Amino acid sequence: MSVDPYMRGRMNDAASYVAPFQLDAPLAGGAVGEVLISRAPGIEPGQTVLHGLGWREHAVVDASSARVVDTSTTAPSWHLGVLGMPGLTAYAGLVGVAGLSEDDVVFVSGAAGAVGSVAGQLAPLLGASRVIGSAGSEAKVAHLRELGFDAAFSYRDAPVADQLRQAAPDGIDVYFDNVGGDHLEAAIGSLRLGGRVAVCGAISGYNATEPTPGPRNLGLLIGRRLTLRGFLVGDWEHLRQEFETRMAGWIADGSIRADETVVHGLGQAPTAMIGMLAGENTGKMIVALD
Ligand code: NAP
Repeated sequence: MSVDPYMRGRMNDAASYVAPFQLDAPLAGGAVGEVLISRAPGIEPGQTVLHGLGWREHAVVDASSARVVDTSTTAPSWHLGVLGMPGLTAYAGLVGVAGLSEDDVVFVSGAAGAVGSVAGQLAPLLGASRVIGSAGSEAKVAHLRELGFDAAFSYRDAPVADQLRQAAPDGIDVYFDNVGGDHLEAAIGSLRLGGRVAVCGAISGYNATEPTPGPRNLGLLIGRRLTLRGFLVGDWEHLRQEFETRMAGWIADGSIRADETVVHGLGQAPTAMIGMLAGENTGKMIVALD
């Protein structure tokens, strides 16, 4: 099963694009599992299905909300990560939202996580001339370089704006924002004429108890004709087929690495969720239920 940042939002009793979790009711979330018994035509015992009833070891899943996935050449967990929702988020954000074009310089925050690590690996395959990533530790920075990022820095070492300016002295064209806060302000400061921001997430504020200050440099949007566009992956289903085909090819030829951090046992799921929010994962955080 998957633990994802959006689940943190569901733990607040507030109106949002997805309803809050209910007290004393089981949690839910993305999972892949083996079909044990089926009364649905086209879904056979032994097949693997992707569904939305994680946070439990066994589930009675309505066939209309289960999708059979091919695990002959892929690990089941990849359908929760690189080949699944986070992967499609990275693809839709770059292709559809930011309109990545040839020779763009791209900055990705949260770059060692599920979405960020895919976005950073995808960008050069889609034509970017240079990709810069930020993450929360030296080990993750080293990992980003192994993944092919041209430059990487830890946001804990020095102000993001200074480190970004150093990594991209001539500026950036696209910012894939997973973090918000000072990362977003720094990126706006570095964006060149016509720059675009795919506003994917704002994890630096998810545990905040008070509203966090917005970027202080929004005035730059005008003269530099910048675009900041928020998006939800659910609105980009029409790209799924194209994404899955291209991604399967990139994984097969070694262009994209499917990174994940695996925690074992349902009892460890809360620890995995809290750990993911604290940065203990590299790549997709997965809970193995067996
Ligand atoms: P992830 O990046 O795998 O895990 C979360 C990561 O956030 C942690 O590993 C941690 O890495 C980083 N983080 C935590 N607190 C931070 C802070 N204060 N400042 C900077 N980084 C911090 O999670 P994911 O599933 O790939 O999601 C990444 C972002 O995309 C989230 O904001 C999520 O809400 C968003 N998202 C949006 C959509 C959509 O449809 N718009 C879909 C999926 C995900 P470090 O060690 O680097 O701090």
